[in-house]
Amino acid sequence: MKADLKGLTTHEIEGWAAAQGLDSYRGRQIRHWLLGRLAGSFEEMTSLPKPLRALLTEKANITHLETMKSLESEDGTRKYLFRLADGNLIESVLIPERNHLTLCISSQAGCAMGCRFCFTAKQGFKRHLTPSEIIDQVIQVKRSLDDPSRLTNIVMMGMGEPLHNYNATLIAVRGLIDQDGMNFSHRKITLSTCGLVPEMENMGRDMTVNLAVSLNAADDETRNFLMPINKKFPLKTLLSACRRLPLPNRRMITFEYILIKGINDSHGDASKLVRLLAGVRAKVNLIPLNPYPGSALTPPSTKKILGFQEILLGNDFTAIIRKSKGNDIMAACGQLSGCAS
Ligand code: SAH
Repeated sequence: MKADLKGLTTHEIEGWAAAQGLDSYRGRQIRHWLLGRLAGSFEEMTSLPKPLRALLTEKANITHLETMKSLESEDGTRKYLFRLADGNLIESVLIPERNHLTLCISSQAGCAMGCRFCFTAKQGFKRHLTPSEIIDQVIQVKRSLDDPSRLTNIVMMGMGEPLHNYNATLIAVRGLIDQDGMNFSHRKITLSTCGLVPEMENMGRDMTVNLAVSLNAADDETRNFLMPINKKFPLKTLLSACRRLPLPNRRMITFEYILIKGINDSHGDASKLVRLLAGVRAKVNLIPLNPYPGSALTPPSTKKILGFQEILLGNDFTAIIRKSKGNDIMAACGQLSGCAS
């Protein structure tokens, strides 16, 4: 089988180059063409001698995701639907910010975590993405942009649980950050997890990207109801892992909290959240629930949302209400399904 070079670490591609009888720096050079310069073919790699390009064409493949559709929302958010080689579908969402673009990427086709509020969960788990499929979302989106340099921020918050697909996620993150890769700043990459504690601990050791934790409730009873993973790693375990996590200078953990009417939106819930996060370097993102077809859950009123935020602010927490983007094209948090509607 031909090698899929996009999904290799620097070390692996150097090893691959050596196995072909090449100097190992050729490996880094090829990686830079693939990830940094977005080459779609070996022919484009003009700094490589022609015989080497011919050898590469013979020995390796440049696989790529097939863009099935890209839909633009009224607010400028763009959703990409990609088809994997085996027919599975995944989505990525490009979000325009004031001075840059943020891309939200997927780590799995479907998801196994079963969160009650999330549309992706309803699709069930199809499979893990390979490192090359994770990173290729960024490559294909960059290739579609007039000015690819505007894409500076990556959030791993799309379909799937990145820490459930730990090794592929780690390799993809390296590809994003490495200088011979895509050269993103590690400060501009955020990985979001539902709270897989052992992998969070590994992450503290292996990666320097930002961490976001989907909390969504401040007591175990409510969190068990919303997120089955809480039965395995309850709040006490989760928060003590957060407290132990080594954080580079002045960095904080983002806690995402979806506000759901009648479930987790009361003053009492806000006060519990304040107590739960005491002593954690935390900032809180409040996300009013994005409804999806067939869901019984609804977002609270604006008044209720502001009241909840007020309590956090009053206790010196940074608490931001995340305006939902891309709702009209089902591209908002929790709405990704791979159905392209
Ligand atoms: N598995 C990872 C990443 C995917 S979810 C995780 O759990 O963090 C990304 C974010 O979308 C999470 O913060 C989640 O809480 C939020 N989300 C999921 N469904 C949502 C919905 N219906 N409305 C608003 N936010 C939602």
